[in-house]
Amino acid sequence: MKKLSIGMRLTLWYFAIFLLAEFAFGTGMWLILRKNLFDIADAALEGQAADLERFLEARKDAPAAQLQAEISADYKIERSADYLQISDASGNSIYGSRFFEKHPLPQLSPDQLARPRYENRRLGHEHFRFMSEMMAVNGHAYVVRIGHPLDEEMETLDAFRGYLLWFAPVLLLSASGVGYWLSHKALAPVDALARTARTISGHNLSNRLDALHTGDELERLSDTLNEMLGRIEAAFRRITEFTADASHELRTPIALIHTEAEVTLRRSRDEAEYREALRHILLEAERTAKLLEELLDLARADAGSEALDIHPIDLLVTLRECAAKWNQVALLRNLQFEEHLEVQRLPVMGDENALRRVIDILLDNALKYAPSPGKITLSAEEKDGHVAVSVEDTGIGIAPEDQARIFERFYRVDKARSRELGGAGLGLAIAQWIVHLHKGSITVKSEVGLGSLFRVVIPATTLAVGQRPDLQ
Ligand code: ADP
Repeated sequence: MKKLSIGMRLTLWYFAIFLLAEFAFGTGMWLILRKNLFDIADAALEGQAADLERFLEARKDAPAAQLQAEISADYKIERSADYLQISDASGNSIYGSRFFEKHPLPQLSPDQLARPRYENRRLGHEHFRFMSEMMAVNGHAYVVRIGHPLDEEMETLDAFRGYLLWFAPVLLLSASGVGYWLSHKALAPVDALARTARTISGHNLSNRLDALHTGDELERLSDTLNEMLGRIEAAFRRITEFTADASHELRTPIALIHTEAEVTLRRSRDEAEYREALRHILLEAERTAKLLEELLDLARADAGSEALDIHPIDLLVTLRECAAKWNQVALLRNLQFEEHLEVQRLPVMGDENALRRVIDILLDNALKYAPSPGKITLSAEEKDGHVAVSVEDTGIGIAPEDQARIFERFYRVDKARSRELGGAGLGLAIAQWIVHLHKGSITVKSEVGLGSLFRVVIPATTLAVGQRPDLQ
């Protein structure tokens, strides 16, 4: 089922809350008015009772029959006695107006009359309020009941209720209308944002949403969405460039293999020539395989740290293995290889294979870019809760403007030379990705003609090697 728009939902909420508020307010006002009207009626009843008390006081010791006669004559003429009933304490009637003869009310016990008693009654079509009290006058006890017709009060209450019932829906509808208009107005910029956002696709990622200058949440929303678009555009550009670079890099060795095979097959050749051609083809095939492996690594890098198996390891073991391997290669290339690994152990949280890859990339580069005779130094230390590994060479060095870019994908200082040496400019990008996933940093210090120093720093761990934190 399609959900209602926010504007509509806000209006419905507004309607419901307003309805409730109106109901509570109307009922409250009606009850207060009713109480006030009854208070006024009670005051009138009390006035009549006081009047009657004075009248009875003046007729001290008059027998019941005389009292009855005087009330029927004098009192009735001077004051209103249409709704008056007087009886003695034993319930014998002294006076009862015609009204009470027509509508006899139940007798009240002395207990019920401990205090003046007020009650509303509907008799026929009319409403009345009665006050009943025990009156002690000149040593005699009288039970007095006085009635007060409530026609006017009821009319006032009915009129008030009528106003409320007429006024409330008008107020409710106009308030809901205003609520709808307000919510619509407040949300209109969101609609505008959504319309523009709908027009943005991969082809026009440089477009931006109209910035709202409302100084509120909506301005923050449009700014945040624009920042997000900026990040998406940058990521999109990186992917496009990466795909273009990757295809370019793959095209070169494949074109070379193709040309080599084609030229060789144009005429018949002797065995040595075929061998040479196949050797070239093999070399290019190896390069392509290496490149594909690196591209896969980077694809994994983009997938995040799930691609790694991180647990406590002793990096010293890995460093020693790498040193032994690259020492041999250095010997073959007539380069001096020095290692300074005078530590007991280097415990870190890491993926052993990934970290070995970093060291291999750095040592491979150091050997590639160091002309013979030269020196490569691998050193490591543990300091301030961190493990630092340095690879130093006495090679060609890197100019300051290139130092900032060598960690970019496919960036090579000297394209021709790097390709000749088998590099596609992905090694350092891979190394940096691995180090970052280990919450570490990789930096370079270099001087053209003197050499380079690459330094990797990752946090040390206090966990015992081989222990897996997730299995504890
Ligand atoms: P490649 O596979 O081409 O070596 P890298 O990402 O490992 O790619 O390195 C990027 C570029 O940085 C290289 O092409 C090279 O120009 C430069 N570079 C890397 N290491 C060194 C070094 N030790 N000495 C001089 N230049 C280096």
